[in-house]
Amino acid sequence: MKWHKKLTTDLREFGIIKRLTDLNSFQFILILPTMLIFILATVTIVFGVQHAGFNWGMVFTWVVWWGMLIALFVIFGRGWCIMCPFGALGEWVQRLSLWWKSKWGIGLNLKYPKRLKNLWMAIVFFVIFIFLDSGYGISNSPPLTAGLLVVLTVGAIWVGLIFEKRTFCLYHCPLTAFIGIASMMAPFEVRRKDADVCRQCKTKACFNGSENTYGCPMNVFQGSGVDKNRDCILCTECVTSCPYNNIKMRFRPFGYDLWNRKKGKLDESVGSIVIAGAVTIVSLFLVLFLTPVRSAVSSILFSGTNPGDWVRIISIGFLFLGGIAVTLLLMYGFSYLSKRFSGVKDIKAKAFFVNFGYALVPLGIMKFLADILDHVLRTWGAVFDVTRALAKDFPLDRVYASELTVRQLVNPAWTYVMQLLLTGIGFGFSLYVAYKLSQRMFADRNIAFKAFLPIGASVFVVGMAALWALSAAL
Ligand code: SF4
Ligand code: SF4
Ligand code: SF4
Repeated sequence: MKWHKKLTTDLREFGIIKRLTDLNSFQFILILPTMLIFILATVTIVFGVQHAGFNWGMVFTWVVWWGMLIALFVIFGRGWCIMCPFGALGEWVQRLSLWWKSKWGIGLNLKYPKRLKNLWMAIVFFVIFIFLDSGYGISNSPPLTAGLLVVLTVGAIWVGLIFEKRTFCLYHCPLTAFIGIASMMAPFEVRRKDADVCRQCKTKACFNGSENTYGCPMNVFQGSGVDKNRDCILCTECVTSCPYNNIKMRFRPFGYDLWNRKKGKLDESVGSIVIAGAVTIVSLFLVLFLTPVRSAVSSILFSGTNPGDWVRIISIGFLFLGGIAVTLLLMYGFSYLSKRFSGVKDIKAKAFFVNFGYALVPLGIMKFLADILDHVLRTWGAVFDVTRALAKDFPLDRVYASELTVRQLVNPAWTYVMQLLLTGIGFGFSLYVAYKLSQRMFADRNIAFKAFLPIGASVFVVGMAALWALSAAL
């Protein structure tokens, strides 16, 4: 068998993977270590040394967790979600069970309003989340990080007590729009095997659950032929529920969902553009305009000190919203040009915008990776220093580490080359996706190519902004 055929084989054909994913407790086994680490991180953030660089919970959260989350979704999509303690806490309280099927849940199990079943709220929460980091320095502040952990925990439990299933993970988590959209690019999927078996299936247990299982907590119905990873948290509940062993888990080509999903959606398209805009045009705006905007704002307001420096917060907020608005307008403008170039009259520019927004996903994700890479490589050494300090005062972490290794694990010049490479790969892949999307829209190759040209140009502009922001930040 050729290597790529082997890769796309159902991984459940491997005995050990089948045995593990057949376990009802599979997800719990993965969550348990992260839950213990989360509890320890929270204790150290609240009681430990109040310095971001010396606090074990802070270093672990913003170096290990953040780096791992991003690395995981490049390969497994929502790979973090399967072991995330926040979503699990909401689910455990709602069901009054850790993994077994319980008769007594305490959640009200209300249906979530149909008009709110979209990504809009999640996109706003995501923008607030990354703004809190850039503007408010949440990753440098133990009290703010503790606040974020409390908000996520209380939010997941509270929403879990009111609404059915994982409503928090579907529509409220500040990460869901980001990892949901990114997971559409990931080369891994959970899907039904045989559509005929699903058609004849009476129980639809993958969705409805069975005597011993709950069914999909994310309202994904495998029997209908899932076309994208967006909502799949890889929990394997459908795998254990399906009585016909009709679910497969397999690797597949990168980016597959971006051009193979059934229908484009405005919220997904805007989410894709916002993610890309936040790490490209916004980054560039911050590098180029923060100083002049700050001095303009400081002529109206008094400067403070971080994290309560309102001049800085307002200036960054202004550039954030401005950068995202410019990226959206840019994509809309080029979508309009794409319509004009294609020569079609009966398709609105909005339809082009919805179709082509997904093209920016690879560029946005790879630029995100490039940004995180620098941070992780520079501060990774500190993880060992703060862990040694934690061992001296476990679990309160009130002892300062004698040294903090904050040198690059990889030479800065090589880190920069790797960042350029990642961004370049994202840029090239975004161009490829844009071309696939134009082919998806138009069967005629000539029209497809004409429609692609302006979108290719918009990817070029955003890609150049990403590279400029990288080099200017050096
Ligand atoms: S959506 Fe958010 S809360 Fe839910 S599992 Fe994923 S990261 Fe955790
Ligand atoms: S339970 Fe299995 S066979 Fe039935 S609809 Fe779901 S995936 Fe298909
Ligand atoms: S589709 Fe299956 S693996 Fe994905 S979230 Fe639903 S139950 Fe879990």
